[in-house]
Amino acid sequence: MKKKIYILFIILICVGLGLVYFVFGERKKPIINVSPDLIYTNAQKTFQVVAKDEGLGLKQLRVILKQNMKRITVLEQVFPAKTMTWSGEFKLPKLKQGPFELLIICTDRSWNNWGKGNTSLYVKKMVYDTKAPLISLVSKKHNLSQGGAGLVVYKVSEDVTQTGVEVGKYFFPAYKQKNGLYYCLFAYPYDARPGEDMPTITALDLAENKAKSGFYYHLNKRKFRHDKINISDRFLKAKMPQFQSIFPEEKDLLHLFLRVNQDLRAKNRQELRKIGLKTADHFLFTGQFLRQPNAARKASFGDHRSYYYQGQLIDKQVHLGIDLASLAQAPVPAANNGKVVFAGFLGIYGQVVIIDHGLGLQSLYAHLSQIDVQEGESVRKGQIIGRTGSTGMAGGDHLHFGIVISGLPVNPVEWWDLNWLKNNILDR
Ligand SMILES: [Zn+2]
Repeated sequence: MKKKIYILFIILICVGLGLVYFVFGERKKPIINVSPDLIYTNAQKTFQVVAKDEGLGLKQLRVILKQNMKRITVLEQVFPAKTMTWSGEFKLPKLKQGPFELLIICTDRSWNNWGKGNTSLYVKKMVYDTKAPLISLVSKKHNLSQGGAGLVVYKVSEDVTQTGVEVGKYFFPAYKQKNGLYYCLFAYPYDARPGEDMPTITALDLAENKAKSGFYYHLNKRKFRHDKINISDRFLKAKMPQFQSIFPEEKDLLHLFLRVNQDLRAKNRQELRKIGLKTADHFLFTGQFLRQPNAARKASFGDHRSYYYQGQLIDKQVHLGIDLASLAQAPVPAANNGKVVFAGFLGIYGQVVIIDHGLGLQSLYAHLSQIDVQEGESVRKGQIIGRTGSTGMAGGDHLHFGIVISGLPVNPVEWWDLNWLKNNILDR
């Protein structure tokens, strides 16, 4: 009898020890997370480490950087009991330019491994880079006009995530060519401030080091025309119903007009910037751009328009294309070779076709009554793409022709001029 109790006692102890080991010797490793998840980094980045344990809690964490034979501990933390999650930050110390290893070791309070606990290891190969890329200019003279275009050609010393030309609030992306050079078609925007908004080439490398480089240019300032436009009740009654569904809350036609002329115009400009990114990385066009034949110019690029209603000034906007009028529903030819990137209704432009010619360069044909092409279609210079009309914000039948660079309208006249094209674009 005594022997039986004795055996039972031993069994109970074993079960007890097993239970203790089961609870205190849990095998769930801590989980380590590091953000941001980068490979290339500069010295400015702050990294966040989050450690979690689902068992008995965290015990210790160390962040170590390994470069060549050197090991640098940048963070060491011993946790109080029952710390289930912890988060902390670290910055990189000064390292040598080039590869290094990020090592994070975290253990928990488990009795597993003869009391050493469960250990998680986070290893990541990274690159330390604090040097901005080097920009070297290849193109020379740059002759710009306010509202006009230019092309810079340059080299960048390393891989980049973004490069192009900044002018004031605008950014024009560059496109890498097969020869390794970057071509950037940019505008000196119609609303940029000469003397203040200088075109600057920028390049952001993989570690987010940003290089900036100015370049010599000559700017021809331009005076834009001023134009008075009288908004009649007849115009409001004829044109506003097509926009009612966009602003259903505007019951008054004049208010609706102002919403369209301001808010919808601004929204459509934003849409142009998105469409501007749908572009080929090389030029698709050849020679000068075609102007609608037998059409009279009714409004110019950059016209500063003042809108009047019953003798009162109600709005001011800038006209960013050229209005050409001929016969009603006249055929509209594609100004150059390219690919249709938009065909349909686009707010103030009405029925519109946008053709991409590469490097962000696009031509725009607005207020059409008929569209004969589809998105994705390649077109040749002179091919009829539709017919003129007065859809959108157009008083009468005409073609609003625009040239757009990465979403910003520029003066189309330059693109009709073979000499300008040769000197400023094609010879680069
Ligand atoms: Zn127009």
